[in-house]
Parts: sequence; C-alpha cells; structure tokens
Amino acid sequence: MKIVVLPGDGIGPETMAVAVAVLETAAQRFNLDLTLEHDLAGHASLKVHGATVTEDLLAKVLPADGLMLGPMSTYDFKDESKGEINPSKFFRKRLDLFANIRPARTFPGIPTISRPFELVVVRENTEGFYADRNVESGNSEILVTPDVAISLRRITRACCERVARSAFEIAMQRRRRLTLVHKHNVLKITDGIFLDACHRVGKDFPEVEVDDEIVDAMMAHVVRNPARFDVIVTTNMFGDILSDLTAELSGSLGLGGSLNAGANHAMGQAAHGSAPDIASQDLANPFSQVVSAAMLLAWLSQRSGHAQYLLASRAIETAMEQCIAEQQVTRDIGGRLGTRAVGQALVRCLREA
Ligand code: NAD
Repeated sequence: MKIVVLPGDGIGPETMAVAVAVLETAAQRFNLDLTLEHDLAGHASLKVHGATVTEDLLAKVLPADGLMLGPMSTYDFKDESKGEINPSKFFRKRLDLFANIRPARTFPGIPTISRPFELVVVRENTEGFYADRNVESGNSEILVTPDVAISLRRITRACCERVARSAFEIAMQRRRRLTLVHKHNVLKITDGIFLDACHRVGKDFPEVEVDDEIVDAMMAHVVRNPARFDVIVTTNMFGDILSDLTAELSGSLGLGGSLNAGANHAMGQAAHGSAPDIASQDLANPFSQVVSAAMLLAWLSQRSGHAQYLLASRAIETAMEQCIAEQQVTRDIGGRLGTRAVGQALVRCLREA
C-alpha cells in the first residue's frame, strides 16, 4: 500500500510528523506492507512550484492507495490564477471524496462541558453552499453590484443519495440510528431533495431507525444531550459547522479526526484548520491527525480485505486512549505535554499495544 503524505500549513508539519511516526510504528508492529511518499501542498508547494497543488502531485496521488493531508491555510489562498488553490477542495473534487466522516467521542480522562457521548457526523463533501465546489471551474458567488452578492447552493439527488448510503452503511456498523439534519422549513426545494434522497436510500436499510432535526435546533440538541445521537448525515456547510461543534464538545477541536472518502480514494485530514495562533510552538494536539490516519487504515482494510490494517487502526486508537488515561496529552485537553512529547508517548504505547 502506498500513502502520499502532505503536511500542510501552520500546525500541519508538527501534527503530521506525529501521524507519520505512528503510521511507521503501526507498519512495523503489524507487518503492514506500507510505503509513505512525502510531498508538498499549501504554502510550501506555492514557494517551490508556484502553486499550492499541481497536476504532477495529483498524478502521484491518483495511483496511490491513500492520502494524508495536513490542515491548510485556506484563507490565505485567494487567487487561483496565482496558484493559490484550496488544496482540500482540490483533492475532494478531483478524487471525488463525497463523504466526509467525522467521529466525535468523549474520553474519561478529558474534561468536557458535556455528558459522555459517541457519534459520527457524515457530511456531504462535494457540493452545497461551498462556492468553489458547485461549478466545474471558478466560483459560484456572484457580485451583482459592489454591494449586492449572491451565493448559490447546489444540491443534487445523486450526491445526496451517495452520502446517505455511506451514512446508512456506517449506522449499520454502529447503533443503527441515523439523524438527517436539514433546513427544510426554509430551504424547501434543496433540502426537500436531500430528505427525499435519504428516505429512498433508507428503504435498503430497514434495520436503521431514522429521525430528522432542523439544523438550528440540532445545535441545541447536540449541546444539551449529544448521547442521543449515533450517526448524523447532512449537507456540506451544516456538516462542517456541526462537526466542529461536536469535536469541541468532546474536549477540543484538536481531537477532531476525519476521513474524506469516495468510491476509489480516501484522504485522512483533521477536521480543523491550520491554527496559525499556535503554529510552531509545540502546542498543537496531534490526536486529530492521528485519528485521521487510523481511519484511513480502517478504510484500506475494508477495501483490500487485509485484516492487519484494521488491527493496526484499532491499536492506534487504543494507544491514544492509553495516553489520555496516563494524562500524556497536550494542554488543550488538560495535559502538560508538547506535540512532540505526545507523539513519543503514542509511539511507546503503540509498540506495547
Ligand atoms: P482553526 O481550526 O485553525 O483553529 C480554531 C481554534 O482551534 C484555534 O484557537 C486553534 O488554536 C484551535 N485548534 C485547532 N486545531 C488544534 C489542534 N490540533 N490542537 C489544539 N488547538 C487547535 O480555525 P481558524 O483559525 O479559523 O483557521 C485557520 C486557517 O485554517 C484559515 O486559513 C482557515 O481558512 C483554515 N481552515 C482550513 C481547514 C482545512 O484545511 N480543512 C479547515 C478549517 C479552516
């Protein structure tokens, strides 16, 4: 198996270094035939190649088995004609990574404002309100006059059905409960298509209990009682916002791992951004990137049938739980260690796992 590793911007090189050490240790420990191929994306690539991502890089990623992408300073990238392309969008679109799977759970050793919970947000990843994902090229925001702008939200039955199917499949492996999150009371046509597509796909999964919530009320419900939810499926922007909330409720955005999965490709990428406020200070929580790596290994196992990859994925999660239980964690979740020291502790726990 070959995984391409792109560390990204801000805290990306620090957190990705930990994820790489964990993947290398897991490969040794579980005899995985795993090669990591390192390359550049984001500011580092812009300096060297004049673009944040290139077609040459895509040509390396396409035949690989998986991709690990670090967080990107997306806000800095404003002009595609100057090579400032949003790398997350680039890979989500070009690899057709339609389901963004974002688990969130509490751990006994991490202080939270919330009662214990364990859930997964499945977010549609290729259309919705994100202007750069709605059109073949360019941007689907329109400046009508200097003071009037229009942003379009694209919803298609095909994209809703495929993300719904992913969510039902995940629900079948868990507590078999799926919540559809929408704003159908106002966005009647677009969220009408979303809900209808989900219910149609649901006919293939009669064992899964389905309910739905309006997105604004959902924020209150998830804060009040997140344990009520198992799997949640929603459109792009609602899922982006909701999953940052569930990660933070679990203790920190620095715990928010995610997998961007399509039919043929998958990309592990932390849910958060490049966190410039703490970059290069050895403060970043690497768990989000590590969880993303574990999710990628589980996806590779499912695709290839190699059980060792699933064992390695579970061992990484166990090593993380052990670090948390021993308080070998970063400050955002109540510890005293830096990013590098947490990485060393994780590698030690994984060797012993
Ligand atoms: P952010 O997610 O980078 O940071 C929000 C807050 O969470 C900050 O206080 C940060 O210190 C903290 N945080 C994030 N990750 C952490 C970690 N691993 N450990 C400890 N604390 C962590 O959001 P932002 O500051 O609004 O955005 C910064 C940049 O990231 C912007 O350019 C934005 O466009 C970009 N962004 C990229 C992605 C992505 O690449 N997928 C996602 C969101 C934002």
